[in-house]
Amino acid sequence: MTDEQADLVTWARNTARRNNQIVTETVDQVQQGMPGRAPERERITAARHVHNHAGDVLADAVLDARGAGETWHEIGVTMEMGTAEDGTPPGPQAFEWSLGRTKLTSAYWTCRTCENVVADDGPYEANPAMVEHGHTRDCSRAARDAEQYRQMLAEAGMD
Ligand SMILES: [Zn+2]
Repeated sequence: MTDEQADLVTWARNTARRNNQIVTETVDQVQQGMPGRAPERERITAARHVHNHAGDVLADAVLDARGAGETWHEIGVTMEMGTAEDGTPPGPQAFEWSLGRTKLTSAYWTCRTCENVVADDGPYEANPAMVEHGHTRDCSRAARDAEQYRQMLAEAGMD
């Protein structure tokens, strides 16, 4: 292991320790604000509040990443979702996770290119025009994605 790699391992360990401490302190603070006589159960409730809030932050971050142009696959990989036991790849897993947070049938995010709200039907269909509904007519991101799809069909001899 090089010095740089050792530094990175030390940095990661210290960061994890610090994050753990922040979460524990946050749970303690939430717990202190809760009236009641069963501190053990209050700790569970306080930890659930913190956990749910972190889930909300993650859900917002996922939708913002889609708005910025990240694919569901890239998001799933970043969320450390490997291929599931049933063979589901990271992209559909990330999409299903996102839908599970909202109980909606599409994921809604704001396109950072055209600023419109887009309804996203998930990574099951290759043609972006069939998946992302709501980009403006002149959205350059939608145009670029459509062009990439046309090129992919042309390379596969399917145009
Ligand atoms: Zn757009």
